[in-house]
Amino acid sequence: MLKLNALPLMGSRTTPINLARWLARARSALAGRTTTPYLEAQALAAHVLGKTKEWVIAHSDVIITPEENEKLSQALKDLAFGVPLAYLTGEKEFYGLQFRVTPDVLVPRPETELLVENAINWLNKNPEAHLALEIGTGSGCIAISLAKHSPNLQLIATDRYWPPLKIAQENVLFHNLQHRITLLQANLLRGISGKFDLLVTNPPYIPTKALASLEVARSEPLSALDGGEDGLFFIREIIRSAPRILKPGGVILMEIEQTLGGPVQDLAKQFFPKSNADLILDYSGFPRILRVRT
Ligand code: GLN
Repeated sequence: MLKLNALPLMGSRTTPINLARWLARARSALAGRTTTPYLEAQALAAHVLGKTKEWVIAHSDVIITPEENEKLSQALKDLAFGVPLAYLTGEKEFYGLQFRVTPDVLVPRPETELLVENAINWLNKNPEAHLALEIGTGSGCIAISLAKHSPNLQLIATDRYWPPLKIAQENVLFHNLQHRITLLQANLLRGISGKFDLLVTNPPYIPTKALASLEVARSEPLSALDGGEDGLFFIREIIRSAPRILKPGGVILMEIEQTLGGPVQDLAKQFFPKSNADLILDYSGFPRILRVRT
């Protein structure tokens, strides 16, 4: 972990620096904590200066004012301390779409794109499916990506908490999907009735003890990460109540932690004894999605 006082001095008030020099210094300050330090430095500079990344790339000789330098240094300190870039810029790209994010929601992860991709493939193969439920929507990125790619789909997207639902609502409105996505405050499947073709979810699944050593748990909402003692608390609850809300011929697609494949599949077999429950592997060969076909 980088010590804050070890950050290189980013130019003083008496020695103006240009953007190229600031970017070079920011890159070395971030080198230990991200694999893309230069890209993150560029994105941060673009955000703080109120410009596009293209502008930053094309104007590396611009002299930074002392006020800008002050703001850039503060943002860089936060980033080097482990605050996700997305929280500093307030946005994150996911599945080719732009989403607003704040510390009230988990930052959309590239691995969750695999969940969306599988859901879209299933929807394409099942064109009669038209109603989906997402549990624990956070920023809304999963529901919104599905709605964008499946024009006939209607979705209900839930979250236990109000603050993430407000961010999800902003994203739904931004993508003009308010007629297709209904946001609902609900604790798992309690109070949810109706029959769905697709249940999609990325529940909290990190075992409580493992959270202490994870950097993400310092900045991102614990309620979106903490899966209880065995990591299965929410997964178990969802699988247990899902038979009631799924149509015959429907599907559950659930993101899981890579070590939970066995126990999650056992749970699925217990509560869906007549269904086909399998695990979908990610590109590194780890089981990351539970699929139950009813
Ligand atoms: N994939 C996230 C992480 O590793 C965890 C998300 C979750 O618990 N659903 O930080």
